[in-house]
Amino acid sequence: MKTIIEPFRIKSVEPIKMTTRKDREEYIRVANYNLFSLHADLVLIDLLTDSGTSAMSSEQWAGILRGDESYAGSKSFYRFHRAVSEIMPFDNIIPTHQGRAAEKILFSVIGGEGKKIPNNTHFDTTRANVEFSGAEAVDLVIEEGKDPQKLHPFKGNMDVLKLEKFINETGTENIPCVMITITNNSGGGQPVSMENIREVSHICKKYDLPLIIDACRFAENAYFIKIREEGYSNKSIKDIVREIFSYADGCTMSAKKDALVNIGGYLCLNNDDWATQARNLLIITEGFPTYGGLAGRDLEAIAIGLEEILHEDYLQYRIRSTEYLGEKINAEGVPIVLPVGGHAVYIDAKAMLPHIPTEQFPGQSLAVELYLEGGIRGCEIGTVMFGEAAQMELVRLAIPRRVYTQSHIDYVIEVIINVYKNKDKLKGMKFTYEPEVLRHFTAQFEYVD
Ligand SMILES: *Cc1c(COP(=O)(O)O)cnc(C)c1O
Repeated sequence: MKTIIEPFRIKSVEPIKMTTRKDREEYIRVANYNLFSLHADLVLIDLLTDSGTSAMSSEQWAGILRGDESYAGSKSFYRFHRAVSEIMPFDNIIPTHQGRAAEKILFSVIGGEGKKIPNNTHFDTTRANVEFSGAEAVDLVIEEGKDPQKLHPFKGNMDVLKLEKFINETGTENIPCVMITITNNSGGGQPVSMENIREVSHICKKYDLPLIIDACRFAENAYFIKIREEGYSNKSIKDIVREIFSYADGCTMSAKKDALVNIGGYLCLNNDDWATQARNLLIITEGFPTYGGLAGRDLEAIAIGLEEILHEDYLQYRIRSTEYLGEKINAEGVPIVLPVGGHAVYIDAKAMLPHIPTEQFPGQSLAVELYLEGGIRGCEIGTVMFGEAAQMELVRLAIPRRVYTQSHIDYVIEVIINVYKNKDKLKGMKFTYEPEVLRHFTAQFEYVD
């Protein structure tokens, strides 16, 4: 069969409020042309992020009711612990309220002034937590990973030659751990190959450095290994996942991604000494070690999500539907980051709108136009977000898990193609209010005449 169906039925629905272009012109004007300022019910298809936006299954909702809210040693904690150990068999498993809480605790223990932490590409909260501890965050992704048009099956790979050179120049005493992010979110959701993880782990062993995986999209990464890497097509996703983590000494996890829940995270460590320090910090900032900032019901939902995410028919639908969106718009000429990653499609606004200079925010103009044309909310990742440090002008369309059907995606495709046909009419934008930090969240804009 050519058609890949959504491998689930809909049991509970959430109506979408329909709006017209005229309505949306008013809404976005009131929001000062900032999509973060819009009330979410004025959005038709919300592709702002895939984080915490998953639809939970009926089993997960049943788990919510079963959640044991005992302060210490709840049944839900042990269920969570078993589910994590099954695929990420580390000695210490510490629940946190989000991925960044796991990062904050980890780098409070191992970071600090004078330390350097290499990664393929640090995600922004990871980088922020490394730097907040006083340490330096170093990105060592392969060159192909930095070129939006370059085709490579594993653009998230770490450059192992650069890693070894970095270790020799920095000195192992200044490197508390090596990290690798699967999939590489900041690099466009691009996967890392098993071969690369194995090579990085070899280097870590050679220099006696722990390897910590940023595991947020571990299942999507495992599926890419299965379909793209030689020797893995007959292996189960669970076996691939277990092999990935067998090379590591710990991981940080945002359950808001591949654990299919709306809140949660955890930190895994083999090093007992680090884990003791981490639990002490956990008690101060998150909670007792058997709930760590989450309700028992959240732990229950994570445990079930971690089982469901390994289903191959789910992953096939997930990866294929993201690719389908990218393929269809690219076929009509819309420039995108290639190949399409696991969780999002990135439109190259600079290539699409060459008449808008980067200081007039082509990505913002395109993101606003997608909203005006079809009520779609994406996210500018370019000069508005990063200022002069921006390397590309992208609009990210992140796909929530199990939320939208193929007809929603076909609608998104139609809207993007309409905008593309009228691309020459899009105008540049300028700030009417420019905040000092994290300006994309609260900036205000108007069109340049
Ligand atoms: C989302 C994310 C995080 C942070 O997790 P939160 O749950 O949002 O705090 C860390 N790393 C990567 C790769 C992510 O995608």
